[in-house]
Amino acid sequence: MELDTIAAISTPMGEGAIAIVRLSGQDAIAIADRLYRGKKKLTEVESHTIHYGHIYHPKTNEIIEEVMVTVLHGPKTFTRENIVEVNCHGGLVSVNRVLQCILQEGARLAEPGEFTKRAFLNGRIDLSQAEGVIDLIRAKTDRAMNVALGQLEGRLSLKIKNLRQALLETVAHVEVNIDYPEYDAEEMTTSILREKGTEVLHEIDRLLATAEQGKILREGLATVIIGRPNVGKSSLLNSLVHEMKAIVTDIPGTTRDVIEEYVNVRGVPLRLIDTAGIRETEDIVERMGVERSRQKLKEAQLILLVLNYGEELSKEDEALFEAIRGLDAIIIVNKTDLPQKINLDKVKQLAQARPVVTTSILKDEGIDELEEAIKTLFFTGNMEAEDMTYVSNSRHIALLHQARKSVEDALGAIEVGMPVDMIQIDITRAWEQLGEIVGDTVHESLIDQLFSQFCLGK
Ligand code: GDP
Repeated sequence: MELDTIAAISTPMGEGAIAIVRLSGQDAIAIADRLYRGKKKLTEVESHTIHYGHIYHPKTNEIIEEVMVTVLHGPKTFTRENIVEVNCHGGLVSVNRVLQCILQEGARLAEPGEFTKRAFLNGRIDLSQAEGVIDLIRAKTDRAMNVALGQLEGRLSLKIKNLRQALLETVAHVEVNIDYPEYDAEEMTTSILREKGTEVLHEIDRLLATAEQGKILREGLATVIIGRPNVGKSSLLNSLVHEMKAIVTDIPGTTRDVIEEYVNVRGVPLRLIDTAGIRETEDIVERMGVERSRQKLKEAQLILLVLNYGEELSKEDEALFEAIRGLDAIIIVNKTDLPQKINLDKVKQLAQARPVVTTSILKDEGIDELEEAIKTLFFTGNMEAEDMTYVSNSRHIALLHQARKSVEDALGAIEVGMPVDMIQIDITRAWEQLGEIVGDTVHESLIDQLFSQFCLGK
């Protein structure tokens, strides 16, 4: 595929020590060379080397920028095309001028994600890896970043590949049965189908089990802070926001978003909903009535209910407990520096099995416990394992569900003694649906692969 040469500023907009303009495409090196002057011509230097020099304006001949230029010949590059990276260090204005010169010399401004798209189109990465790049850029916590990195490295791809391989083998057995009925492989085929099918089903289930966590890591845990006026909701918010860590990605071709409404609590990204309305939520129950406020609170995946240690439980407090009945919540009894008026036994009783944490946000006490409680709520069991393959992408989740259904159909068909070619249809569909995750389902390839693997001596 012949593609034009694209260029873009690959580092985040804003003040930085260096900024990189990246070019990718057949003419990348030639275009850069027309603007560059250094010891050697860029068209003559070896691949994967870096060179000091200056960028000159093509018309006026004035020096635009002092640069280090990296020259990378395809196909051993991210896009598999020729890549040039121009490291500038004169700030935003000059990096923009460098880009303008490059565009004047014939490169086209890259669309968002176009470098990654080329990597995919040129077979350098598969679809789920490409999606991993996107996730990486948007990762809100270190852990989310690890998930995205895992995906980029192809960890999910590998799992999907193994699953598809297992399905392929079962289809092959069905094929044998259809093509060589004299083998009378019926019995064997059914039992292998059942065994392999069940294995695949379990593995899909394992992947789907990570989906909820994965999705939260990706999108953040929708969190609402509620409580009566003056219990310390805003103080709590501030104290959590204080913990926010910006994620720095060094993946070229990407920009970073700093997402203010996200708070990173020990690797759990909280997406604080309605923070602007925190001051209004106090009368949420009165305003909307218990039923309607329940509806609203249901949208939240985590509720932080704040109570006042220095006051007795009020009717409003109890109404709030009523409103969050059955929902995931952490009860925060704040202001422990004040003399105790609240009945903690009553609070625990109202909390049911949900965690109760006492804090003095003013004195910075109990925040650790609160953060630990949030973390525990989220990372249960072995979900925390660092090398875990999380499925975090909605498209992948949907496809996994579809594939699961297809495998289930196949197993059901076996049970009721359907002819094997009917079963084959379901298995093939599952194979295709999984293939869509990595972006390479082509029906013909099933046939090709099948026969390259199962020669049957003919
Ligand atoms: P909100 O109305 O629920 O958002 O409550 P705020 O966060 O605005 O806090 C109300 C008042 O309580 C402020 O004056 C805070 O400084 C104070 N406050 C917050 N946390 C504590 C605490 O742990 N102890 C004490 N004594 N005061 C606190």
